[in-house]
Amino acid sequence: MDSNFRQAILRAVDSEFDEQTNFLKELCRFPSVRGQEQAIQHFLADALRSRGYETDVWQIDAHELEHMPGFSPVLEPYAEALNVVGKKPTRTQMGRSLILNGHVDVVPAGPAFMWRNPPFEPYCEGGWMYGRGAGDMKAGLTCNLFALDALAALGFQPAADCFLQFVVEEECTGNGALACLQRGYTADAALIPEPFGETLVSAQVGVLWLQVRVKGVPSHIAHASAGINAIEAAMPLISALRALEARWNDDARRPKEFDGVDHPLNLNIGRIEGGDWPSSVPAWSTFDVRMAIYPGEDLDAAERELRACIAAGAAGSDYLRENAPEIVCHGFRAEGYSLERDTSEPATNARELLAAMHQIVSGSPMTHAPITATTDARFFGLYADIPALVYGPVAERIHGYDERVLLASVKRVTQSIALFIAGWCGLEPIKKA
Ligand code: ZN
Repeated sequence: MDSNFRQAILRAVDSEFDEQTNFLKELCRFPSVRGQEQAIQHFLADALRSRGYETDVWQIDAHELEHMPGFSPVLEPYAEALNVVGKKPTRTQMGRSLILNGHVDVVPAGPAFMWRNPPFEPYCEGGWMYGRGAGDMKAGLTCNLFALDALAALGFQPAADCFLQFVVEEECTGNGALACLQRGYTADAALIPEPFGETLVSAQVGVLWLQVRVKGVPSHIAHASAGINAIEAAMPLISALRALEARWNDDARRPKEFDGVDHPLNLNIGRIEGGDWPSSVPAWSTFDVRMAIYPGEDLDAAERELRACIAAGAAGSDYLRENAPEIVCHGFRAEGYSLERDTSEPATNARELLAAMHQIVSGSPMTHAPITATTDARFFGLYADIPALVYGPVAERIHGYDERVLLASVKRVTQSIALFIAGWCGLEPIKKA
């Protein structure tokens, strides 16, 4: 690929960027929280078909996935959880194949009044686009799609299979990406433009979710001593988990990928519910725990340690010792993943190519850093031997209020991905119909 052609690719992204920005705004209008992703998936499938892609739209089924490594348990069967994959037939199959993956689900917005503007009414200001999901990761979805559009505008398509995957369930289980593996999609590399600041993710933590259910003894508050307060009984359990978090973050168990990261393994008590009435001693409380582990650490061992920790916290109370809290695992059961540990030739080649393309677009070397969250990259890297590059735009306040993504960065990432596709897959002329 000569430098004139590269410049033509960059210009092609540039000249379609207004359209890309509008498309991103459209995506951000869909409140695609868990259970409500169907509308955006149909919209994306239509967008693919209008561009001449073959589409594969299917309902993911937990029973078909539960035997697979990397599966995360769910409480109920999926209702209308749709995945979408787009692909154009390739004539030459000369190059290396590629998966361009992204998730359409977003986390709940929280109370709308805490946003400056409503979370699903996106707007642009000062070079940023605001809205729930703008950064995480609807911008990335447009980077993948419009990178291929730019190549098509020049009359080219990848000279190897290139799958555009739009998946659900990234924010709670990853079972959407797993369903793509189960359906047989594979490639020589995968790229996921999650919003981590134009930095290549070198490693990601694993994540475990647990739900702790505490039963108390209800009573009228007039006879409080006859009751056991299930909300207050949960507090020592949370304190015990905080102590475990401190131990797990000890430098002794930290792998080198996380050197220099302040507090890599974060405990979160992310949701709490309990009780029925201000003047009744609460009979129940439930809280949700998110805890992280390092790449290479064993999920079952981590779960055992968490359960033992909660049991030890309960042992401090005469009541809880006899009435052990119930622990239910549903949601994330995600191993950590380190791209840095993958020294295979495809992984090395993919990293080097992306770094070179990043350098051309941004004029500076590509940095890499670990993240203290999980992404769907683990499925490709751990269970399908596909090196997975996580590289996406600059975003702020993802999972918070007034989430935003930097549009100039979205354009640069789209350009880097377009150059990466050209270099990785090679290009062939689109055959005129
Ligand atoms: Zn994300």
